[in-house]
Amino acid sequence: MKKTTLAPSILCLLLAAGTFSCAQKFQTFQMPRPYAVEKIVAPEKRDKPKNIVLMIGDGMSLATMYTAWAANRGHLNIENCQYVGLSKTCSANRMITDSAAAGTAFATGRKTDNGHVGIDADERPQASILEKAKQHGLSAGLVVTCNILDATPAVFVAKKGDRHQWADIAPQYVAGDVDFVCGGGWKNFKNGKDGRDLTKELAAKGYQLPRTVAELEKIDKGKVFALLADGDLPLPNERGDTLSRAAMKALELLSQDDQGFFLMIEGSMIDDGGHDNQLDRLMDEVHDFDRAVGKVLQWAAEDGETLVVVTADHETGGWTLLGGDIASGKVRGKFSTDGHSGVMVPVYSFGPKAEAFTGIFENTDLFYKMLAAYGFGDPDRRQK
Ligand SMILES: [Zn+2]
Repeated sequence: MKKTTLAPSILCLLLAAGTFSCAQKFQTFQMPRPYAVEKIVAPEKRDKPKNIVLMIGDGMSLATMYTAWAANRGHLNIENCQYVGLSKTCSANRMITDSAAAGTAFATGRKTDNGHVGIDADERPQASILEKAKQHGLSAGLVVTCNILDATPAVFVAKKGDRHQWADIAPQYVAGDVDFVCGGGWKNFKNGKDGRDLTKELAAKGYQLPRTVAELEKIDKGKVFALLADGDLPLPNERGDTLSRAAMKALELLSQDDQGFFLMIEGSMIDDGGHDNQLDRLMDEVHDFDRAVGKVLQWAAEDGETLVVVTADHETGGWTLLGGDIASGKVRGKFSTDGHSGVMVPVYSFGPKAEAFTGIFENTDLFYKMLAAYGFGDPDRRQK
């Protein structure tokens, strides 16, 4: 009897304690200086795009994006995308995906287990959209704000069962053939496995290795492997507009290829703002990413042959917008987790074949839609 009366009271205490510790506090943010957003009109319809730019806001949800929109006084560059779809994010073995499985899904068209990089759930290596583009004679690039060895960029180049085995992922970049790489990770390449200095190996392969964005901007042709930080790049208030500038340089150099190109650009650390439950950091990262989206859309509008797809791999932080004021850019809300949440993520598209990215589809379909847009799809390998 004592036991049965005690048990519920202990349970209540535990629940109360749990509720208390899990009850997230309200957070508010007011954007001090909103940025201008211009109307960017998509080019006249063309048969198919010559180039595809895939832009990933790691951990960016519809709620995150709408909060960033409100904070910027009701404007975001992403709104210039003519079409919107929804992508289902669950992985092969989990309701809640991680970046490795989600990235592998849209890079290779295969659902895989969390933690896997470029391999399917049966551990078979899969060719990525970047590698397919290279096989078809196109150029390819990756621009991120995190360590280039992190899961989202790695899924386009490497094949590895465990996303954390960076020492094994780094040499795969050296063996690979990406024309333009920009992100962090100098230390990892300098101090490679078995005493290898991978920066020297990259230089021997003909890569230019600028260490700052100013050095990067001086390059006007050739292959680039820009490692702008030892690890991740610093926060937006320190790194400034590095993401936009690196993205513009990637477009300039990759577009020198008459065959076309594939470029992945990631706002990598939106995810960290969500994990750390820091609304100000989350907003800074989304706004930095959106400014890069604006630059890319402007470039694509002038180019006329470039499809831009903007999406996320999953949501992070369970952010909910619960109030605010658009006129003053004030937003208020709560996080519900320090991990990822399970929800579909929006897919925004702009340019030739953008209309193919509408409706509700699996994240793996992004791979097949991109292949089909280029015109070198192999629908037999389609997997639901
Ligand atoms: Zn994450």
